[in-house]
Amino acid sequence: MGNQGPKQHGYRNMALKRTGDGKKTNQKAYIKTFGCQMNEYDSERIAYHLTKAGYTLTGRLEGSDLIVLNTCAVREKAKNRLYGHIGNLKKHKKENPHLIIAVGGCTAQNLRADIQKDFPFVDIVFGTFNVSQIAQLVAQKQKGRSNICGVKEQGFDYQLGQSVRPQPFKAFVPVITGCNNFCSYCIVPFVRGREKSLPPEAIAAHIKDLAHQGVKEVTLLGQNVNSYGKDLDQAIDFSSLLEKMDPLGIPWIRFMTSHPKDFSPKLVKVVAGCDQAVNHIHLPLQSGSNAVLEKMNRKYTQEHYLGMVQDMKANMKNCSITTDIMVGFPGEEEKDFKQTMHVVKKARFKRAFTFIYSPRERTAAAKIKDVVPLASKKKWFGELVAVQNRISYEENKKMEGKTFQALVEGYSPKDKGLLQARLYDHTVVLCRAPKQLIGKMVYLEIKQAKAFYLIGNYQGKC
Ligand code: SF4
Repeated sequence: MGNQGPKQHGYRNMALKRTGDGKKTNQKAYIKTFGCQMNEYDSERIAYHLTKAGYTLTGRLEGSDLIVLNTCAVREKAKNRLYGHIGNLKKHKKENPHLIIAVGGCTAQNLRADIQKDFPFVDIVFGTFNVSQIAQLVAQKQKGRSNICGVKEQGFDYQLGQSVRPQPFKAFVPVITGCNNFCSYCIVPFVRGREKSLPPEAIAAHIKDLAHQGVKEVTLLGQNVNSYGKDLDQAIDFSSLLEKMDPLGIPWIRFMTSHPKDFSPKLVKVVAGCDQAVNHIHLPLQSGSNAVLEKMNRKYTQEHYLGMVQDMKANMKNCSITTDIMVGFPGEEEKDFKQTMHVVKKARFKRAFTFIYSPRERTAAAKIKDVVPLASKKKWFGELVAVQNRISYEENKKMEGKTFQALVEGYSPKDKGLLQARLYDHTVVLCRAPKQLIGKMVYLEIKQAKAFYLIGNYQGKC
């Protein structure tokens, strides 16, 4: 999945007035999520196990009895930000000595000993392989145990359906966990383990259940969904899995993340032929330079990548492609960066999540000494963002005057008088419409394009 968790996600301070079917404790639990969609899904699982144990989920850190930080290890910045967050919790512990603090996720999996050493007031450290044990670990703390480290080296505890969704009309469905690719800059294979596919029957049964619950959008999740099925006895790949899920009654099926080395023309045909699969593909490029791609151990070339872009745009109606791009990888030179810009201008991505390379301990790239001057990194990053923002705006501009299906997700974070909806390619559309439409599929006519969102007019329900 790499870093397709482009933005930092907080467990959006939503007070979910749910109580577990176990004994009610009136204890409040606050969950904060950092990182990617897989982490968001793990937070929904944490919410499930804590509500089953009787906790009430709260959107407010202040006054909570249990604080769970679900962490991301994908970049140095994420780790520094996390350490800042954990440090801030010390004062809450002073104010309420009964407060329980638990730190989980990829940084906990990777740096469990450091966290316990640097933050002795943290009660529980748990990992990515035993999220379902969070309630037991909290119970151990309540019985008086301290400095609990429940991190496992490997394991698989995913039970589809054991999750509490912040937005009941949207659902993440992991189809494969872990990653075998070992891109040289990436920490994920070290903290999420080897690829493990969920059985297609279990996925199908779960999606039927979600359709029965009225879910409008499902995102099939995996660090690299295109590897789906390689570890299963039965012969099935991701394209076949998608075809099986298409007729099960979910209006919109998304999937992320794809890996260019495994992305196939067969999948393009299947997406184009499926009624429910959206014509939006997130395909991380990372770099346009073959020399840098080789050092990144990405196992594809610029030519191969552009060939797939061409295939998608030729065969998928209104095809929308988003990507991840990194600048400043060790050894990168001006000529390499120019290759990245060549792909950006040719592929015309709808959006790109852009990063400056930062070394991750334990990764192969962290051992490469040839560091790119910060001035070059910043200059390239600025140029990349400027060119991509212009392309995103021009692609948004092409949507003006057209009418699209959209899923209404809630109120606009910036203006409560407006509703926020998303198009098939995740583009945000703000519109004036009755709040009863939240969670519904509607038609919106695009009136105005902005760099990062659109303004639309409500045209009726789908
Ligand atoms: S190793 Fe590569 S494919 Fe796997 S999660 Fe990391 S970036 Fe994605």
